[in-house]
Amino acid sequence: MKSEFQQKNTAHHFQPFSDNKELAEKGIKLISKAEGVYIYEDNGKKYLDGMAGLWCVNIGYGRKELVEAASQQMTELPYYNLFFKTTTAPATNLAAKIASLAPAHMNKVFFTGSGSDANDTNFRMVRRYWDLKGKPTKKTFISRKNAYHGSTVAAASLGGMGYMHEQGDLPIDGIVHVDQPYWFAEGGDLSQDEFGLKAAQSLEAKILEVGEENVAAFIAEPFQGAGGVITPPDSYWPEIKRILAKYDILFILDEVISGFGRTGEWFASEYFDLKPDMITIAKGMSSGYLPIGGVIISDKVADVVIGEGADFNHGYTYSGHPVAAAVALKNIEILESEGIVDQVKSEISPYLQQRWQELADHPIVGEARGLGMVAAIELVKDKATKERLAPNAAGGGVCRDYSMDNGLIMRSCGDIMVISPPLVITKAEIDELIEKAKKTLDDTARFYN
Ligand code: PLP
Repeated sequence: MKSEFQQKNTAHHFQPFSDNKELAEKGIKLISKAEGVYIYEDNGKKYLDGMAGLWCVNIGYGRKELVEAASQQMTELPYYNLFFKTTTAPATNLAAKIASLAPAHMNKVFFTGSGSDANDTNFRMVRRYWDLKGKPTKKTFISRKNAYHGSTVAAASLGGMGYMHEQGDLPIDGIVHVDQPYWFAEGGDLSQDEFGLKAAQSLEAKILEVGEENVAAFIAEPFQGAGGVITPPDSYWPEIKRILAKYDILFILDEVISGFGRTGEWFASEYFDLKPDMITIAKGMSSGYLPIGGVIISDKVADVVIGEGADFNHGYTYSGHPVAAAVALKNIEILESEGIVDQVKSEISPYLQQRWQELADHPIVGEARGLGMVAAIELVKDKATKERLAPNAAGGGVCRDYSMDNGLIMRSCGDIMVISPPLVITKAEIDELIEKAKKTLDDTARFYN
């Protein structure tokens, strides 16, 4: 007999990205509190949150300063909009703060409520840019297969997830996809560097096919997150930079996961030495404590879309919501004043990556990879042939369930297990994460033997 709570959830709650029928049958975990890098189920079971929620709780759970910032702002001014010749102090101060941390050529921020609607904003702003530039044929976006840019119509179309495109007849017109730099699964006999070049050159081929005069922008994550922490070979980004320099198209870097310290730099544009025209942000911006996102805009784009007589008829009721903005500002202050991003670069990410590599020796691991505070392992039955544990990526689901049993939140992206822990995780907590991951791999291997 299901508890009253479980029955209520089944009866009334339609959950995102879930097999709701299966949830109804098997029941659902009720997460009721969190502290530091740990979350707790209602029944008291404790988990090390290796995913920082959904790649977002950068400063960890339970920071009272954020609660106070929210409470103070709610008391003073819980809401006001940015549409009608008005702003609020948190929105303006946050824009200035982000501009001070962003690459030097990017000085304006447009606020949204999430990463998805930030990418919708990009979609409209880029097309608006080319119209204002007198090049209205430049309307096509080039993205990559297996990219994730969000769930709204434009963002899911920009993304390259087949299982999302199947629902709702996506992608919409004007969006095409090129190869991803996923060497483990698609590299064949090529070396990493050879494959990185080849994947990058699929962008140039597509620009030539569509016609430079029709291409508006290229959008990409610095490393694909939801696609399975696809870390590009060293040759990939330099070749993409060469191509972007050659053709007159805009470059949108989706830093919804990578922004605000995850690579050990404030932005991954610095980590990979990239010069985007717009950067998509969300998640770590507020460490997920309240929903907020945005687009950081280069001077080149701003000069056009904010030029004389250039109204941008776009915005959200909750663009730059003052309470979310106040919380984001405090979150960034904490990341800065506690030296968390520097700590990630000098100490914590090298330690995480070094220990993560130990998993590569496990018999069911085909590859262990990562950078900064993200990492992945490829689950295989046979290391040499890369044969998977089971058809239809079932091995990932089994492994994720064992991981939860073992008190560790890892995410399965098909046959890839990924982590993206809070940036404040300690070395002792990383040790715990690795031990739990090893036990999880042992359990999964036993299941398939
Ligand atoms: N872009 C990237 C790279 C993401 O990983 C995500 C979410 O996971 C999004 C965009 C969408 O953000 P949101 O879920 O806040 O709409």
